[in-house]
Amino acid sequence: MRTLLLAVVLLCGAAAHAQQPLAPGVVVVPGGFEADRQPDGNSLLLEGSEGWLLIDSGRHRAHAQAALAAAGGPVRAVLNTHWHLDHLGGNAWLRSQLPGLEAWGSPAITRALAPDGWLDRYRRQLVEALPSAPAAQGAVMRIDLELLDQADALRPEHEIRRASAVTIAGRSLRVGVETAVSGGDLWVLDTASGTLATGDLVTLPVPFLDTACPPAWREALERLSAQPFRRLVPGHGPVMSRADFERWRGGFDALLDCAGQGLHPAACAAVWRSRVDRWLDDAGRARVNGMLGYYFKTLLQAPPEQRERFCLRSR
Ligand SMILES: [Zn+2]
Repeated sequence: MRTLLLAVVLLCGAAAHAQQPLAPGVVVVPGGFEADRQPDGNSLLLEGSEGWLLIDSGRHRAHAQAALAAAGGPVRAVLNTHWHLDHLGGNAWLRSQLPGLEAWGSPAITRALAPDGWLDRYRRQLVEALPSAPAAQGAVMRIDLELLDQADALRPEHEIRRASAVTIAGRSLRVGVETAVSGGDLWVLDTASGTLATGDLVTLPVPFLDTACPPAWREALERLSAQPFRRLVPGHGPVMSRADFERWRGGFDALLDCAGQGLHPAACAAVWRSRVDRWLDDAGRARVNGMLGYYFKTLLQAPPEQRERFCLRSR
């Protein structure tokens, strides 16, 4: 269980990017990956005829505040791509500010928050570890604990269980459901602008494999590739063109192939870096080997019976 916590603490460090409007009624709120704190995922704001929809709410209050400020009008709804707190935690503060806010997500969020679900177990780890944690780490842990103490505010009341066309806040969307990263990963195609929000199905500086099923992830990326998108907003990292995404995907496949051939993690990390280096800043570059080394040990080159332990789950 200790490894769960370690995995989350590993995700620390790098700079936030400036905000960028993509198209009319389409605004990205970049996440951050700064030193000494947990990350925030990217958010995407879409304007519908009934107000704004926010896709992913980040973890920290400052991120959720930035999202509200970036919306050109009232935010009516939030859709969370998955249950990792860097995409879900902001719901708690948003609901305290916007009582009528409607939340959409996959049933995996409810499962993760349920007794003995992943987030419930993580909460218990935090409670156990906090008393002996050094002050700086304790402060980071307390942020997550406060979010998990508001589980009711994190849960979606509208569950999306299968790929479907949905209209939220008056904006027409195509939503896909995958299981590869967290057991319930939504991707959202804004059909009007051709903008695809992928959540953590696409991330930098590396794929976040903490709760992943690698073979299912490959298949999910094939389905993403088949979508008619012009630009892609990843869970972490800069906005991508279709060509960028295909390059990233080639790196992902090469990384998994390299791991599967039993090659050394550092050699595979070099293969990965050669594909994605154009998107990495110094902090990201410095983090690649450590993160991939950890994922090789815990998943990609773990004993065979452990490698697909996150594959046997339903949506
Ligand atoms: Zn994330």
